[in-house]
Amino acid sequence: MTDMVTARSLLDRLVAFRSVSRDSNLELIDWVAEWLEGQGITVTKVPDPAQPTKASLFAQVGPDVAGGVVLSGHTDVVPVEGQDWASDPWAVVERDGRLYGRGVCDMKGFDALALAAMAAAARRPLKRPLQIALSHDEELGCIGCIPMIEAMAGLPRASAVVVGEPTMMKAVTGHKGGLAFWVKVHGHEVHSSLMHTGVSAILEGAKILMWVNEMNAKGQGAAKVSPFVPPWTTVHTGEIRGGTAHNITAGLCEFGVDFRVLPGEDPEDWRRAFLAKVAEVELGMKAVHPNARIEVKERFALPGLAPEVDGVAEGLVRALTGDNGSQVVSYGTEAGQFQVRGWSAVVCGPGDIEQAHKADEWLALSQFEAGWAFMEDLIERLCA
Ligand SMILES: [Zn+2]
Repeated sequence: MTDMVTARSLLDRLVAFRSVSRDSNLELIDWVAEWLEGQGITVTKVPDPAQPTKASLFAQVGPDVAGGVVLSGHTDVVPVEGQDWASDPWAVVERDGRLYGRGVCDMKGFDALALAAMAAAARRPLKRPLQIALSHDEELGCIGCIPMIEAMAGLPRASAVVVGEPTMMKAVTGHKGGLAFWVKVHGHEVHSSLMHTGVSAILEGAKILMWVNEMNAKGQGAAKVSPFVPPWTTVHTGEIRGGTAHNITAGLCEFGVDFRVLPGEDPEDWRRAFLAKVAEVELGMKAVHPNARIEVKERFALPGLAPEVDGVAEGLVRALTGDNGSQVVSYGTEAGQFQVRGWSAVVCGPGDIEQAHKADEWLALSQFEAGWAFMEDLIERLCA
């Protein structure tokens, strides 16, 4: 079997695992670990400390020295419910130069290439190591990778991390971070004719939403030169519900508040500013009724990827792909999680994000082949 054929058959196998983020990924992780071990590669599984049904893994081939390269992928995929697929999403179908299946693009295509690259690299005289990192819960806000990345501190430090999210094999050097909250405003119900004695959860929640609007206006006004579109941190509410009748001060109003944070700004500053606003509104509510309160639940916090100055990872990918353009994207990836922990990171993988998460998700065969060419050149480089 050529290595490319190995990669292709690995893709079939990986897609067949229904590793939707809400479900266990242990079957997939165990199978991959066993497959790598079959190639003579030692694997470290990292169980999720909070969820016994989930795990990540990492492995290394080559000498135990610093300066290697990490290939980073996630094992979870988005659900298929409610999507109209032309063929079974859990079986890779090849037609018209395309591979169809859930996760072929995001991102089991890259996972398969990375695994085949590990096996190929294990047979080569590497001077620097190749490492693989396969995470879980990426689609839930890039949270599952954290214990794995922390455990990887025990490996010789790699000089670059390539996160294989679909970029059409272009170097993506930056993305915004994310911070998401769910807010529940608990008011005090009275007849609205006596609203001065009640607390309307809707009107109090609106004060927080006014702050959201203010932050957007302020950000836009102070926009700096930046490759990001738009070049400021945006704050958004995409869902809201509350109230029961026109003449009752609302007892409950709940909504989401999501930040897309420009790299270079500290998400902690945004968290503090937001929570200070919530506390201020709550204080006013409690002055009317002591039981009125605001609950805030954090949904996720995801560091952005800041374009690095003379970044090693970016330089590596540019050398391997010949891509000299400059690209940043608006979706989050695990590259930010690696970068905040001290690695040089870049996003580069086969396929177009446009084809991800949809019915009939596909990956062009030519992209899969370009991905394999990338792996071969990378191995060559690690031998030099
Ligand atoms: Zn992905």
